[in-house]
Amino acid sequence: MKLTNFIDGNWQEIGEVEYTAVLNPANGEQLAEVRMSTKDDVDLAVAAAVNAQKKWALVPAPKRADYLYEIGRLMKEKKEHLAQVLTKEMGKVIEEGRGEVQEGIDMAYYMAGEGRRLFGETTPSELADKFAMSVRAPIGVVGLITPWNFPVAIATWKSFPAIVAGNTFIWKPATETPMMAYEMAKIFDEAGLPAGVANIVFGSGSEVGTALIEHQDVKVISFTGSTETGRKVAELGGRHLKKVSLEMGGKNAVIVMEDADLSLAVEGILWSAFGTAGQRCTACSRVIVHKDVKKDLEKMLLEQMENLTIGDGLDESVKIGPVINKQALEKIHSYTKVGQEEGAKLLVGGNVLNEGDLEKGYYYAPTLFTDVTPTMRIAQEEIFGPVVSLIEVSSLEEAIEVNNGVKFGLSSSIFSNDVNKIFRAQRDLDTGIVYVNAGTTGAEIHLPFGGTKGTGNGHRDSGVAALDVYTEWKSIYVDFSGKLQRAQIDTE
Ligand code: NAD
Repeated sequence: MKLTNFIDGNWQEIGEVEYTAVLNPANGEQLAEVRMSTKDDVDLAVAAAVNAQKKWALVPAPKRADYLYEIGRLMKEKKEHLAQVLTKEMGKVIEEGRGEVQEGIDMAYYMAGEGRRLFGETTPSELADKFAMSVRAPIGVVGLITPWNFPVAIATWKSFPAIVAGNTFIWKPATETPMMAYEMAKIFDEAGLPAGVANIVFGSGSEVGTALIEHQDVKVISFTGSTETGRKVAELGGRHLKKVSLEMGGKNAVIVMEDADLSLAVEGILWSAFGTAGQRCTACSRVIVHKDVKKDLEKMLLEQMENLTIGDGLDESVKIGPVINKQALEKIHSYTKVGQEEGAKLLVGGNVLNEGDLEKGYYYAPTLFTDVTPTMRIAQEEIFGPVVSLIEVSSLEEAIEVNNGVKFGLSSSIFSNDVNKIFRAQRDLDTGIVYVNAGTTGAEIHLPFGGTKGTGNGHRDSGVAALDVYTEWKSIYVDFSGKLQRAQIDTE
């Protein structure tokens, strides 16, 4: 199968370009070939989006929302198919694949509801016979750049608020996961979305991403990916005076206090650390544990980690799938070496798995380090794999300090049964998302999603907050006095 761009409602190919193989990380099988587009493709897509946007902005928002209801319905109808494609292409286990597609469905219905809200404000004027209000106005053409680890959910967090608010978009998916974008293009088409509202251009970040950011008709760039790439996107976007929304890396921690329900904490840690093979932006990669329960927690984690079956995510009994590719495997393994050199104690894992059925895929053993100190590189840098570091602390204050002592700020969690500790923690943990008695993953789409410090630049995906990225505030004053009334002056 050859994946070509979706531009102006058509599958478009212009010029001779290269195609790159899309591989199943579970077994190395080639699934498709994807177009490595050029700046010319981006120009074509932006022209279509500019043209469509003028009409789209005039379609009443509830009518725009009807398309989202239909997109949600189609996603629901095709949920199993989409989940299967997702698992084949990206590797996460099928149950998580279904969950991710569900997140997209939830987002479609939630943002469709915004079609009848998109609330602005009405407010009294300081002058007599004058009316004041603010409304959300669409911005124009937006560029969406997404990562491979949530190939459909993140795109829905961005494209659905953009659609309902009256924008048109060009989506550049990650090179590793174009098939989900291809499936979504088919759904946009089937839902009857007018041509040019949704455009998909496949290709590399350096070529297609850069061309999108530099294009003068693209007014907003919404990016999710690594902090390293996000910085480049922000620099280039800043030079072109773009509104740039960034959702980037994480180094998320679960805090386990001495009064915690340890069995529950172990379940939360396993799900957050090893789900999606540790390749979630919210993955738990540090466990900050009170010294009184450290030994017990270590023992319980080790016992439970033995039950984590590893293999092809399409097998319903498998708990951990492969990592995305060979480079990811090498990066993760290099961190195991770093941890050992730094003096951390490797309790289990720390090796590539390549025997038997795992031979052709990219698998890494769930890995647990203990006696990690907060400044070690394995406790500071995003590894993006199934590797967890246990850090011992003596108090809640110290736990919070360790949690906050990294350059990222996406998600954190505390396990405790002490209401005072819990409330202090939710106040003082410097992350965009805080969980109490649950792991670091599990965001729901109607709340804002994003982080502080090196994780973000103040914007949020999801929730009503997402609308802030795709709308401008417009303040409107209507003077019905029939005379000149000067603000701040004719107020008596
Ligand atoms: P990445 O930064 O390598 O790539 C992300 C996207 O940016 C891809 O589409 C890529 O092609 C594109 N890109 C690469 N170079 C570019 C450039 N110079 N200009 C424009 N675009 C460019 O990230 P990844 O490996 O795909 O994803 C993993 C990262 O994403 C992790 O750091 C993870 O924490 C982060 N992430 C964050 C969130 C969040 O919401 N905070 C969610 C998911 C993933």
